[in-house]
Amino acid sequence: MRDITKMERIGAHSHIHGLGLDERLEPRANSQGMVGQGTARKAAGMILKMVQEGRIAGRAILFAGPPSTGKTAIAMGMAQTLGPDVPFTMIAASEVFSLSMSKTEALTQAFRRSIGVRIKEETEIIEGEVVEIQIDRSLTGATKTGKLTVKTTDMETIYDLGSKMIDALSKEKVLAGDVIVIDKTSGKISKLGRSFARSRDYDAMGADTKFVQCPEGEIQKRKEVVHTVSLHEIDVINSRTQGFLALFAGDTGEIKPELRNQIDTKVAEWREEGKAEIIPGVLFIDEVHMLDIECFSFLNRALENELAPLVIMASNRGMARIRGTKFRSPHGLPVDLLDRMLIVSTKPYIDEDVEQIIQIRCQEEDVTLSPDAAKVLTSLALETTLRYALNLISCAQIVARKRKSEQVEPDDLKRAYSYFMDEKRSVQWIKEQQGALVFEEAEVAQNDVMDTT
Ligand code: ATP
Repeated sequence: MRDITKMERIGAHSHIHGLGLDERLEPRANSQGMVGQGTARKAAGMILKMVQEGRIAGRAILFAGPPSTGKTAIAMGMAQTLGPDVPFTMIAASEVFSLSMSKTEALTQAFRRSIGVRIKEETEIIEGEVVEIQIDRSLTGATKTGKLTVKTTDMETIYDLGSKMIDALSKEKVLAGDVIVIDKTSGKISKLGRSFARSRDYDAMGADTKFVQCPEGEIQKRKEVVHTVSLHEIDVINSRTQGFLALFAGDTGEIKPELRNQIDTKVAEWREEGKAEIIPGVLFIDEVHMLDIECFSFLNRALENELAPLVIMASNRGMARIRGTKFRSPHGLPVDLLDRMLIVSTKPYIDEDVEQIIQIRCQEEDVTLSPDAAKVLTSLALETTLRYALNLISCAQIVARKRKSEQVEPDDLKRAYSYFMDEKRSVQWIKEQQGALVFEEAEVAQNDVMDTT
């Protein structure tokens, strides 16, 4: 999600900063870059509440509506509201077919990217330099448990120090609150004992502070570090064939199911020990009608998993063929999947909404429209599409700059309009070419025409 945010900074939805709702989840008229589409925004807000309460699993939501009615914009608004700590993964359904892995593996990875694991690490130690020993203070009296946390890539150091600690713990009585120090140079283990625990230095560190012994003998306050990683990241890091560098390349290949099972077991253990917390996030699948019947049946099953994120899908199709079958169905989705979804519809915009979205985009792109040009562009958007009108903003600005004006006038829009065709004019133009283009399809049966109503 962080990458997407970066990309979107100059993209189509960069003006969206949230859902624009008040505390009661009522949509504000124009807020956080969002205008209109009140019911859908409110529904999105309610969904977010479920996510934030963290107790949903296996829910699926479908945003259905005509093109350019803000389905993706609302999803972006949701991502912004959730903040960087809750995983939000966004894929276009067609990506599932273009990766060098099976469709179900691609979907599994998308699912696991959307589940966060917040790991509490109890120490911050400079690589290979500083060792921390922690005695569990909640235990009273004699205890033979202790914890050694070493942040080093050198396995020998870890084994060496680990075995020394075990020796120390078994030889002498270690009490809760004792501080054990391993001298890095000599390897000698000594106990600072409770007297140290009663000293001012100790008090200053707070009762739950563990101790770090530096080679110089300086005692540092321990920091608690919390990392949030996704289940997918844990998979990749632990995958021997891939290695963590694959996370940077993005090409993680297939991951073995056995490895995933092991990781799930480990994460469940961490959860029980209070070391980790699961953060169910959101997976957004745009153009979901591009998935096929195998993917849909996978989704049906995957949504039942305890570790399933909230899955939000979007489609601009009406009745359409389910890919991989000869059957037609609403939004091109099988009815059993539709049945388990909450469906939110987005509706075409009214004139004022369109005008305001255009104004917001102009501010975002740093373009000044004269009042007349704003009117012209609004009616153009209603005549063609909102997307086309939004695309013309920056084109008209270039035209205006050529005549050394910082303000876009109706004439600049007119020129831009003559340089770039919208969809309707493009279709008209093709018809006029009467077969001059290469590879024209034969007449299409009415049933096969894409339905976006
Ligand atoms: P498609 O079905 O074609 O994918 P969509 O419903 O996902 O369309 P968007 O891409 O979200 O449509 O919207 C088109 C453009 O209009 C985007 O730049 C989007 O940010 C902007 N937009 C749409 N709705 C709103 C809104 N309610 N407030 C502000 N901007 C919006």
